[in-house]
Amino acid sequence: MPYAYVYQCPECAFDVEVLLCREFERLPDGARRDYQYPDPALYEWPPRRVSGVWSRLWCPSCREVQPHVLHEMDEPAEHPAQVFLAAEAQGLRGLESGPCPVCGATLCVELENQRCPACENSTLTCIGEYEP
Ligand SMILES: [Zn+2]
Ligand SMILES: [Zn+2]
Repeated sequence: MPYAYVYQCPECAFDVEVLLCREFERLPDGARRDYQYPDPALYEWPPRRVSGVWSRLWCPSCREVQPHVLHEMDEPAEHPAQVFLAAEAQGLRGLESGPCPVCGATLCVELENQRCPACENSTLTCIGEYEP
């Protein structure tokens, strides 16, 4: 299940949000975006499909959050539960990191007590978490 963590620097108020294990869909041009749950009041045909799960993790080298694909289905699924089950079947727990798609640096999942990238005077602390 998706989970978001917000970290903030107590010194300069810089903040960053890390998002773990969020469903994504593919747009007709191939770009990925967060899966948008259909409006239950609307009938949609063809049904929306979920392509996989991804995270948005901190890249210490780009100094911004970057997407990290945890799992992508060979065939997009109709129900979000299917992509979570498929990711679990691969042994994924949602906390996995990987290389930044832009610069190749290893992305950071956990930012607690990391030096603030903005002021470099203090360390980041988690100020909130929620289910998106
Ligand atoms: Zn990067
Ligand atoms: Zn700071």
